[in-house]
Amino acid sequence: MLKLKTTFLALALAGAATMAAGVTASAQDKPTVGIAMPTKSSARWIDDGNNMVRVLKERGYNTDLQYAEDDIPNQLSQVENMVTKGAKALVIAAIDGTTLSDVLKQAKAKGIIVIAYDRLIRGTPNVDYYATFDNFQVGVLQAQSIEQGLGLKDGKGPFNIELFGGSPDDNNAYFFYNGAMSVLKPYIDSGKLVVASGQMGMDKVATLRWDGATAQSRMDNLLSAYYGNKKINAVLSPYDGISIGIISSLKGVGYGSAGQPMPIISGQDAEVPSIKAMLRGDQYSTIFKDTRDLAKVTADMVDAALAGKQVTVNDTKTYENGVKTVPSYLLKPVVVYKDNWEKVLVDSGYYKKSQFQ
Ligand code: BGC
Repeated sequence: MLKLKTTFLALALAGAATMAAGVTASAQDKPTVGIAMPTKSSARWIDDGNNMVRVLKERGYNTDLQYAEDDIPNQLSQVENMVTKGAKALVIAAIDGTTLSDVLKQAKAKGIIVIAYDRLIRGTPNVDYYATFDNFQVGVLQAQSIEQGLGLKDGKGPFNIELFGGSPDDNNAYFFYNGAMSVLKPYIDSGKLVVASGQMGMDKVATLRWDGATAQSRMDNLLSAYYGNKKINAVLSPYDGISIGIISSLKGVGYGSAGQPMPIISGQDAEVPSIKAMLRGDQYSTIFKDTRDLAKVTADMVDAALAGKQVTVNDTKTYENGVKTVPSYLLKPVVVYKDNWEKVLVDSGYYKKSQFQ
């Protein structure tokens, strides 16, 4: 009996060992994917990083996630390290889309798959795919929310507006701005919207590194130089962090009170502080980009490319990076207002309602 038990135990242990070996072997089969993210200063990129790691781990990959705190040399050396340490695919959300050419040349020489994540990598042939949202449409939705908030379609106006752009080294910033202007320009031309400062065009309205404090001080200057005896009715903001800076500036001169309502302000990323600002009536809209979907699309690209299979894309025309047109997958952005935020953000499981109480 004892012998039988021992044999059984030995067999069971052997079985467990084989299973463990099997599991380990399959995890080891899958290589490491390097994930380079720009900064932890914005919640969206933290979600992006976490989602990428989760989805890739579920599929058996090892991951190397790095954040560069918006420092270009830092991101460059992080990507160099990933290449040296043997990553087989790189997923990169660039800080400056033009600064990675040398390291990507080395990556290509080693046969590493390079995927531009959310932001296009420019000026190099060594980027294989681009996973992002329809960035032009983001701008269209931002501007349409202003159109709606002001009642422009009903013929209301004229209204005063100021325009803010994103970081000039981020290709997306131009798409957002151009998308927004496709809606706003006709109203500016007809005089229904007046840019009192006259500051138009990305060369005048960009905000380096998407920095909220930079936007706040530009807004301070605009208000004191052009709005001494005028009211501002709308602000095109490309990103929630910028919207928060703009709101602080406006509050500083008395907006947000009964006699002086907040202008209609757009945003992007559906970040918690901006949803709260929306609920208070300080921000009018934001754009939700589901980073869970972006992670999934990107992981699908990694899977297919590493297996030598056809990679699914849905746009092969739009994203010209100066050297090539990068095959892209574009996801749909969704506009969020005070009256649909719960449905879009809580019912979908992206946020918990308790985060807003
Ligand atoms: C992203 C936006 C984000 C911005 C600032 C852009 O590249 O597409 O979602 O608001 O960077 O982080």
